[in-house]
Amino acid sequence: MLLNCIDPRFTDTSARYMAANDMRGRYSHFVVAGGPIGAVHPRFAAWHAAFWENLDITVQLHRIKRVVAMTHRDCGAAKLAFGEAAVATREAENASHGEMLRAFTSEVRRRQPALLVVAGIMDIDGNVDAVG
Ligand SMILES: [Zn+2]
Repeated sequence: MLLNCIDPRFTDTSARYMAANDMRGRYSHFVVAGGPIGAVHPRFAAWHAAFWENLDITVQLHRIKRVVAMTHRDCGAAKLAFGEAAVATREAENASHGEMLRAFTSEVRRRQPALLVVAGIMDIDGNVDAVG
């Protein structure tokens, strides 16, 4: 399952990323502002249940093996959640997005221990910085 942001600048780059990882036409796709940030940050608490229940259902129905948790650079939802200073530089973005992606990964492991999580931050050109 791919979880990413509603930002239209990343629609094509995300599809290319999935195709490059041999997942073309083979993944569930959940889109919400901020992607993984929208699934765990308290600013977006009203959205959390929708994501986690959809994750449970796609595990049951589609037997997915991993979740690709993808945030992106210059994300408006990240700026709303973290504040401007936390996304003002690439280093600040790495820190704030990294913290959230690790929180997301922990939550997946708690709820669906068999799933692998691949987490990263996508650049406008589609390059991805992996977050471990
Ligand atoms: Zn965004």
